[in-house]
Amino acid sequence: MVEMRSDTMTRPTPAMRRAMAAAEVGDDVFGEDPTVNRLEAKAAELLGKEAALLVASGTMANLASLLAHCGRGDEVILGHLSHSFIYEQGGMAAVGGISPRTVANREDGTLAPEEIEAAVRSDDPHFPRTRLVMLENSHNRCGGAPIDAAFTRTAAEITRRHSLRLHVDGARLFNAAAALGVSARELAAAADSVCFCLSKGLAAPVGSVVCGSREFIGQARRARKLLGGGMRQAGVIAAAGLVALDEMVDRLAEDHAHARKLAEGLAAIPGISIDPARVRTNIVYFAVTKPGLTAAELLRRLEREGVRMLATGARTVRAVTHYEVNAAGIDHALAMLAKLMN
Ligand SMILES: *Cc1c(COP(=O)(O)O)cnc(C)c1O
Repeated sequence: MVEMRSDTMTRPTPAMRRAMAAAEVGDDVFGEDPTVNRLEAKAAELLGKEAALLVASGTMANLASLLAHCGRGDEVILGHLSHSFIYEQGGMAAVGGISPRTVANREDGTLAPEEIEAAVRSDDPHFPRTRLVMLENSHNRCGGAPIDAAFTRTAAEITRRHSLRLHVDGARLFNAAAALGVSARELAAAADSVCFCLSKGLAAPVGSVVCGSREFIGQARRARKLLGGGMRQAGVIAAAGLVALDEMVDRLAEDHAHARKLAEGLAAIPGISIDPARVRTNIVYFAVTKPGLTAAELLRRLEREGVRMLATGARTVRAVTHYEVNAAGIDHALAMLAKLMN
């Protein structure tokens, strides 16, 4: 099966399995798991922040970060297509009493600086208090667009001017870094906090890491416990995360080349619409334009040919490449789609 519904489908590598089996562990809620401590130190160092925190998921990473930065009644400015706004059950409001204030994402995943600025509330008892601006890098719903360091610095200038904080949901930050040819540290530099997923393209089975100042991570650690995310011998998870950071970062460009190849092949198939130039990382969105054919029906037929993708709308499809999808898999997917669209 060529599995392209998501890069979360990646299974732990043999090296991860070995590291997990051999991991030295302790009680992480007591701060005594040496493998977790090593992963957190390594992640902080990689991202250029003082400290880091292992959490169960990207969703928990964002929510713990939001709870650490904001109090009840505070407001967060974020893109209307952001993962945190669309796909996290409104957790910031449901759990944290934090309200989202959306600004339109541009096609490249950024927000217009003047719109961020205009969304910052003035000090008036009618208004909630703006506390945080949140960016997403790479931007999933904006075609996996990588956000460059210059834009993040622009957003940081606004947050500094208004005494706000800047959080980057970097679930796929290492993909963005590979696509832009810069370090993840450079992309994170202007942000007060940043999180990334170990369990997507980096292929670990579980986990995300939040990075920021020592003080912020202290608050996020409290929030993690509140959310039920204080894990005990979490070193078995962290061990896979360490392998992910050691062995899976430098190969991400391969996934991007596969995604580009898929996009270029799709552009040549009648009944499919795509702009391959928008495919910059490992995410490919395309539209089914053949009259009478829905994305769901096309994908049902495609699955019978050994290829899985995800319907993201009545006529839109997402495919995500990762280390378990090779060039032969891309060729097979293209051949089967060409056959089905014929
Ligand atoms: C996947 C994802 C998350 C959430 O991660 P989970 O581990 O699935 O909870 C958050 N933000 C972005 C941009 C993502 O793509």
